[in-house]
Amino acid sequence: MLPHTADTVIIGGGVIGASIAYYLSKKKVRAVLLEQGELVSGTSSACGGLIFLQSKKTGAHLALALESKKRFAGLNEELGAEIEYRNEGGLIIVEKEEELQSIDCHIAREKKLGLEVSFLDRQEARELEPCLSENFVAAVHCPLDGQVNPIYLSLAFLEAAKRSGVKVFPLTRVTDIGLGEGRVESVITCRGKIATPIIINAAGVNAPDVGKMVKTKIPIIPRRGQVVVTETGPQLLKRGLISAKYLEVKQAAGLGEAQEAGTSAEQTMSGNFLLGATREFVGFDKRTTWKAMKTIVYRATQLIPGLKDLHIIRTFAGLRPYTPDGLPILGKVTGIDGLIIAAGHEGDGICLAPITGELIADLVTEGRTDFELGDFALDRFEEKRDGRLED
Ligand SMILES: Cc1cc2nc3c(=O)[nH]c(=O)nc-3n(C[C@H](O)[C@H](O)[C@H](O)COP(=O)(O)OP(=O)(O)OC[C@H]3O[C@@H](n4cnc5c(N)ncnc54)[C@H](O)[C@@H]3O)c2cc1C
Repeated sequence: MLPHTADTVIIGGGVIGASIAYYLSKKKVRAVLLEQGELVSGTSSACGGLIFLQSKKTGAHLALALESKKRFAGLNEELGAEIEYRNEGGLIIVEKEEELQSIDCHIAREKKLGLEVSFLDRQEARELEPCLSENFVAAVHCPLDGQVNPIYLSLAFLEAAKRSGVKVFPLTRVTDIGLGEGRVESVITCRGKIATPIIINAAGVNAPDVGKMVKTKIPIIPRRGQVVVTETGPQLLKRGLISAKYLEVKQAAGLGEAQEAGTSAEQTMSGNFLLGATREFVGFDKRTTWKAMKTIVYRATQLIPGLKDLHIIRTFAGLRPYTPDGLPILGKVTGIDGLIIAAGHEGDGICLAPITGELIADLVTEGRTDFELGDFALDRFEEKRDGRLED
């Protein structure tokens, strides 16, 4: 049975909602998490598990990721569950000479912010990862990059939160938000109403629909990523890798065509490879396409020839919650007391989940955060400042 009241209601049972639930539970907040489908059935179960620092935008984005990374180290023990976290470092693979210049600039900016990254020639990169072919020019190594199992991470957050008293309700869709005198008063769901003074919109690509309930425009759209999964094989690839092209498309504001998306590869602890991934604006279409599969497989086997010995067992596509500047939207919603947003993490939500959860929990309990959230405010977007949506 749904409770009639709660101190805080979280909308969304993906990695972001789960992390918020966990950090709120540590602060003894009587929170309720509502998920419209099964738990972790959205983007957080159709993604990769890279905890990459060197793929972040230099500035507040990287600073946030550095803080998040610090929290991963103790999470296995803290959550009392296996999340398959590893800190083996990560590589950016430079496939073409003409990409060297922009990668040089990227490294220089990262170093300026204190990120440990080093440039490797092809030979040095192959010494780190002997499974790599000779079909690339150079690589960038960041020892702080890591990997995690995103589904285990999300479920572990939820289980730990539940143990500390957070009530979690799958199959419970929020259909409306009740307002009174400029502040939130309740959530209305398909199973009843909960009175609450604080609501957190952690609905991923559906965050704009929740925004509409209070006539607030949230500029998040789905950006599809298609992935190929292989059967389990011997551990060939110790670190996650992305290509320089992948980084370029990730950080670009515009449409990335499937064949231009570059390569990402990671091997799970069970031995499966996750090979990806496109970046496409095709609405909420979660189907995979022949064109993308062909491109992903071709590019990945060019870099890791040993993949040819492994069968493909499935393909999937997930929807990244994309914002126009590539940064998540975190913080209070101006003009509606009690409404907080934590969404729009695009391709970084797994990496940024721990710090997002902790900061949002601070905001709920103390009304402020030690980490400056100004760069992530919803108000940074013009549309929002220009006013509320019409009916
Ligand atoms: C192919 C791909 C690869 C990726 N690889 C990585 C990676 O390697 N590293 C990384 O850091 N990130 C990666 N990402 C990004 C990461 O997966 C996302 O940023 C993250 O999962 C977003 O989490 P979320 O909780 O915001 O959204 P979701 O997991 O989608 O959760 C939101 C939940 O809200 C629920 N919901 C929506 N509306 C309502 C409502 N009205 N009522 C109740 N519930 C509602 C939804 O059902 C959903 O379950 C990848 C993404 C993709 C697609």
